[in-house]
Amino acid sequence: MTAKLIDGKEFAQRVRDGVAADVEALKTKHGIAPGLAVVIVGEDPASQVYVRNKVRQTGEVGMNSFHFEMGADVDQATLIGKVEELNADPAVNGILVQLPLPKHIDEAAVIEAIDPAKDVDGFHVINSGLLATGGNGLVPCTPLGCKLMLEDTLGDTSGKKAIVVGRSNIVGKPMAQLLLDMNCTITIAHSRTKDLAAEVASADIVVAAVGRAEMVQGAWIKPGATVIDVGINRVPAPEKGEGKTRLVGDVEFETAKERAGAITPVPGGVGPMTIACLLKNTVTATCNQHGISL
Ligand code: NDP
Repeated sequence: MTAKLIDGKEFAQRVRDGVAADVEALKTKHGIAPGLAVVIVGEDPASQVYVRNKVRQTGEVGMNSFHFEMGADVDQATLIGKVEELNADPAVNGILVQLPLPKHIDEAAVIEAIDPAKDVDGFHVINSGLLATGGNGLVPCTPLGCKLMLEDTLGDTSGKKAIVVGRSNIVGKPMAQLLLDMNCTITIAHSRTKDLAAEVASADIVVAAVGRAEMVQGAWIKPGATVIDVGINRVPAPEKGEGKTRLVGDVEFETAKERAGAITPVPGGVGPMTIACLLKNTVTATCNQHGISL
């Protein structure tokens, strides 16, 4: 059996089209132009690429984009001062501080300084608490993208067994919470899990968010399961030439696709959905701030 490929690029385009329509409605019906502010500290090349993509896509859906660069040596008080300035700016509906931050800055303190109503990354403790208690908060973008892809692929997921491999605050834990809200029965696996192969083999839905190249083996996948691979790992690709690399996920794709019912590729799966969901969250934040439902 060869799995259906879940095309994250195509789905992300559909999400962005929906966001663009919402932005147009906010402008024409309510006179509101949503604005997203992105703050980047230092010159980490990967972060620079993410931020460039975010700024470009924000413009493409018709939102205002505000972009602030700070040197790697900026002090925490100055960074938090910038966040507070953006909290108070009515033209800014969403604030994202690109992580990771330099070591001398306490990331948690910076995240806590963001107004939860503008926290479009969904990392603020108020938003994590709302997610855990079934409230109406802002949900972290990557797990939100995985949820949308699962709903689109499977429809009703009630009663399905789901495993999330990884328990980080930004992917694993919120993903498990979302799957619970989708009425799945959840296992959360991590580095101390005893028999990962057996845990994965019993799951109808597998979400892998580990950060280890192809560690979830294809042979573990239950036939017909839906596999969402969040991992992004760069590995050597000597077949492309000396010193060349390629991206792989946390799942052994070639063997997994022969057993799964549906699977996301890497690249082109979860990755493109993350920015699309950031834009979607900015619309949600704008509507909430103005008491509008579209
Ligand atoms: P973290 O490093 O924060 O968390 C990794 C998790 O994997 C931890 O909970 C860890 O367990 C668990 N783990 C490590 N080794 C094993 C093992 N042998 N067996 C089972 N579990 C294990 O990573 P993130 O959640 O931030 O990211 C995970 C991956 O997703 C990365 O590849 C990252 O690049 C990617 N990512 C992709 C995004 C996208 O847009 N597509 C966005 C965000 C992340 P423990 O807690 O016990 O240490």
